[in-house]
Amino acid sequence: MKVTDPVCGLEFDEDLSVTHDYNSKKYHFCCDGCKKIFIKKPKKWSKKSNQ
Ligand SMILES: [Zn+2]
Repeated sequence: MKVTDPVCGLEFDEDLSVTHDYNSKKYHFCCDGCKKIFIKKPKKWSKKSNQ
């Protein structure tokens, strides 16, 4: 299954993703760097992915 990184917008396989739970929703990231960026400003990035 393909997932999209809300931070950089990259599409990749779910198996390769780094995951993080926020507001009982699971987010997928291409790397730890993107995950850290998300955690710093989760409101900003989670809004983007709801479009
Ligand atoms: Zn990324």
